[in-house]
Amino acid sequence: MIPYGRQSISEDDIAAVVDVLRSDFITQGPRIEFFERVVADYCGVGHAVAVSNGTAALHLACLAANLGPGDTLWTSPNTFVASANCALYCGANVDFVDIDPLTYNLSVDALETKLEAAAATATLPSVVIPVHFAGLSCDMERIGALAQRYGFTVIEDASHAIGGRYRDRPVGSCEFSSMATFSFHPVKIVTTGEGGMVVTNDDELAERLRTLRTHGITRDPQRMGGADDAPWYYELIELGYNYRITDIQAALGASQMTRINEFVDRRHERAERYIRLLDELPVRCQQLSADARSAYHLFVIELERHDRAKVFAAMREADIGVNVHYIPVHLQPLYRERGFNRGDFLNAEAYYERAITLPLYPDFTEEEQDEVAARLAGILEARG
Ligand SMILES: *Cc1c(COP(=O)(O)O)cnc(C)c1O
Repeated sequence: MIPYGRQSISEDDIAAVVDVLRSDFITQGPRIEFFERVVADYCGVGHAVAVSNGTAALHLACLAANLGPGDTLWTSPNTFVASANCALYCGANVDFVDIDPLTYNLSVDALETKLEAAAATATLPSVVIPVHFAGLSCDMERIGALAQRYGFTVIEDASHAIGGRYRDRPVGSCEFSSMATFSFHPVKIVTTGEGGMVVTNDDELAERLRTLRTHGITRDPQRMGGADDAPWYYELIELGYNYRITDIQAALGASQMTRINEFVDRRHERAERYIRLLDELPVRCQQLSADARSAYHLFVIELERHDRAKVFAAMREADIGVNVHYIPVHLQPLYRERGFNRGDFLNAEAYYERAITLPLYPDFTEEEQDEVAARLAGILEARG
């Protein structure tokens, strides 16, 4: 089976992990800070806080933004469930903003309209999470301007997009947001097995994130109320979690980061080749924006006239690991229970009905890609 995504692990990655296993610290050691420095420098951002996975990164970012009961978070329905669940973890409400039918990213026009209506009824969100779907940055400058006007915090869910660019700066620079989060799951751009990160330019948010990822404990005398200055003394100053990453994972991540540009370039080569190979077929590809360079986490197509379930089954039958990204989050039972229904976000629903994700990863060969394209062409013709 050709998978839809998979990690690329080098001998150097393996050696980096083995080195940690032979060292004094396999967690809470020096590799974590090093990995954080590497990612912060790559993104051109002040702080990076590594955590156990991308979901934990979103959860902590919401907590650091003071999201809580009575607040509402808005995100895209075309995303992985974690982009919305992070609000529920904080006791906050979730609402969605429909997608643009061409880029499949949260529509900034729909966001603006919804914000105007919410301002009139005093139901503005406190946090908005734009998701850089498939690796393509949202229109962050406009979202940042709306955040200023309406007073909400922007957390970018950049799980798909490390290595991508927006307006000549790396995704994760946080030029138009408070924080951005990454996931290092094996199908993502770089991997640590499981892992995630929050990046920010705000010193206070960074400090809060570091405290929250390790139970809410501080050893900083300036932040402790107690008079005890014993060397073992620490204080629990708010309720946090154990969301730490290990040094084993951080070493893998830092080693992977040495090849991030190569990974993204290879994804681009394959994606551009897909666009040529599929040119004559009745499918539509994601529309790219002139001011962004996608990291190409996913290569998604929309079928213009074929039954998605049949094409999906025929591709799987041919041992090609196609997938679907995403079932609109508001249609999940958990969100339907919270009052959402079919028809609430029509563009996301219409896109979902026609969407298929084709294989794309750094080590995906031309031969494999030719096979995927030929199979798809054959299936679409047979069912034309
Ligand atoms: C992968 C992903 C996450 C969650 O990351 P994990 O590391 O799997 O917890 C969150 N949001 C989006 C959009 C993702 O693709």
